[in-house]
Amino acid sequence: MLTRYCRTFSAPEHADKTILFSTKTASVLLVPTSLVNGSALDALSEQERATLADHGVLIESAEAERREMLTFLDDLVALDKVFKPTIVLNRDCNLACTYCFEGTRKGKHYLSDRTAEHLLSFVRDHGIPDGDEVNVTFYGGEPLLSLARMVSLAEGIGELAASA
Ligand code: SF4
Repeated sequence: MLTRYCRTFSAPEHADKTILFSTKTASVLLVPTSLVNGSALDALSEQERATLADHGVLIESAEAERREMLTFLDDLVALDKVFKPTIVLNRDCNLACTYCFEGTRKGKHYLSDRTAEHLLSFVRDHGIPDGDEVNVTFYGGEPLLSLARMVSLAEGIGELAASA
């Protein structure tokens, strides 16, 4: 069967053909339209099947591809040796830019003590892998309006990283 990770485009210069783009491998193939609608799949030669499989277009089954993609994502995450949470400290702002586009999203909404505790327990429970760098992004609103919270969370995450 054909992968679900592909897009098809008409090929104006080839009436009976379709451009097939694999979003998984970035391969671009010009194939018979009958292949895309499935009617010609059984008639493929071994070589054609191998070529399509090499380009990630022909797959054994949807389930096998799903497992492949989950493994791919796990492998990708394992390669990243930086623990990098983004923490939204508030939705407040002490400026009044004339072009402000935040509208009603801006307001006196601050990260609570309870959420800060949950955050630290989440990091504690899930752990910072040994040897990982830590790179915390504090986001808002204006994060500096939550300076005390920023410092306490940075210290808390720093301690957890040091004990990893
Ligand atoms: S939220 Fe951004 S754009 Fe709006 S007033 Fe504050 S700094 Fe200016």
